[in-house]
Amino acid sequence: MTKADILIIGAGATGLMAAVTLAKAGKMVIVLEARNRCGGRIHTINQGLFFKDTELGAEFIHGDLPVTLSLLKEAGIAFDTASGEMVHYKNGKFNNDEGVEGWDLLMQKLKTIDKDISINEFLDREFGSEAYHDLKNSVRQFAAGYDSADPDRGSTFALRNEWLNDDEDAQYRVKGGYVKIVDYLEDRIKNAGGSIFLNSAVKEIKWKPGYVKVITNDGVVYGAGQLLIALPLGVLQADKDQLGALTFNPQISEQMAAINQMGFGAVIKILLEFDEPFWIDKQTELQAGKNLENMIFLLSDEEIPTWWTQTPDPSPVITGWLGGPPAAAKKDVPDEEVLRQSLQSLSNIFKRNIEDLKAKVVASRIVNWTNDPFTMGSYAYDTVNASAFREILKQPVDNTLFFAGEYLYDGAAMGTVEAALTSGEEVAKKMIPK
Ligand SMILES: Cc1cc2nc3c(=O)[nH]c(=O)nc-3n(C[C@H](O)[C@H](O)[C@H](O)COP(=O)(O)OP(=O)(O)OC[C@H]3O[C@@H](n4cnc5c(N)ncnc54)[C@H](O)[C@@H]3O)c2cc1C
Repeated sequence: MTKADILIIGAGATGLMAAVTLAKAGKMVIVLEARNRCGGRIHTINQGLFFKDTELGAEFIHGDLPVTLSLLKEAGIAFDTASGEMVHYKNGKFNNDEGVEGWDLLMQKLKTIDKDISINEFLDREFGSEAYHDLKNSVRQFAAGYDSADPDRGSTFALRNEWLNDDEDAQYRVKGGYVKIVDYLEDRIKNAGGSIFLNSAVKEIKWKPGYVKVITNDGVVYGAGQLLIALPLGVLQADKDQLGALTFNPQISEQMAAINQMGFGAVIKILLEFDEPFWIDKQTELQAGKNLENMIFLLSDEEIPTWWTQTPDPSPVITGWLGGPPAAAKKDVPDEEVLRQSLQSLSNIFKRNIEDLKAKVVASRIVNWTNDPFTMGSYAYDTVNASAFREILKQPVDNTLFFAGEYLYDGAAMGTVEAALTSGEEVAKKMIPK
């Protein structure tokens, strides 16, 4: 049995940040990672000819986020502003977003509710009339698309916090990809004497106060005095017979009940590289009434509704995004079919023959994170009363089992790399005796 002071399960942003903090404090740390790479939901690929520094998972820094930006500064990693025009396409044509009827009333009602309820309950209660059909659809699409949330479970309070605190900060992309942060953290762990073992999917955690024994799928056993569980919520919620899922012995019923009541969304990210950025041409200019050279986001009512470009970089890569319940419903749809639906959506929006578009694709990648055994979803969203469940999970179990992850972060940057880094650092500091 290999022994350490502290074992960490999961080498995503959370686990790596925690490992750096603990190793620097002199703890002997071992990180166990199921995949053959670190980073988890951060996964930058660089195929040489195509998809240069392309993000299969996290892509943006959503604002001036302190932990991420200070890490980039410390590591000397550059980042670019990701800005451009938001373009809308609905009912067969490009249009200016003139808003939907009832939006101001929605904001007023959001300000006055005093008890948290689900988004759908709120919409049905306050906006029952048929006149608000479009309004309700817009809210549900936002919750599903941006927060990857199920509106039947998502919290109205969380939606309110998000919308009323929307500070329109700039967004950024890491030069060379988010993987640069992963590489930097990995180096720091190793330089501080910590170890990372890849291809080590943990299956079972046996524990008693002050002692843990962790067993991998291959039967390898590790021991330590404390354990940090830095896994995605989707993996923690999974049925125990699934690859990636793990068991606790003895069980931790209160923590598992909290885990199961929290929200973890679904997402499919679609990457298409064309032989040229075909959306910047005369035909589209005539159709849209403007040149789309500066377009960053394209929001539509197509099957794959959200698209974005690499603007201001003039790249021929366009990224599709499907979040929330529609992505969950496509969990087992084959990649070729999702690719077909993606091209059909682009064909409808840009009025191109689908076969012509297909012929222009030079590289494609469908990333169905909900179907990935070591993620099983996208990122966390707040369900009703989620803060109470977070509080339960933030308390260590007998000073032996600790949880950390983007889902345990309280703040506006929920579900992000910032949330993961912050949670990892905070929990690691709790594990270091004063
Ligand atoms: C498609 C997509 C796009 C996103 N876009 C953005 C964005 O633009 N900006 C942003 O800030 N955030 C974004 N996010 C969210 C962000 O990626 C995550 O919040 C963050 O990376 C989570 O880090 P983590 O360490 O908590 O979890 P993870 O990165 O999931 O790390 C957990 C690790 O645990 C490992 N693991 C799982 N099961 C086991 C097991 N049984 N044994 C051992 N190891 C195991 C996994 O392989 C993984 O490496 C996006 C996420 C997705 C899926």
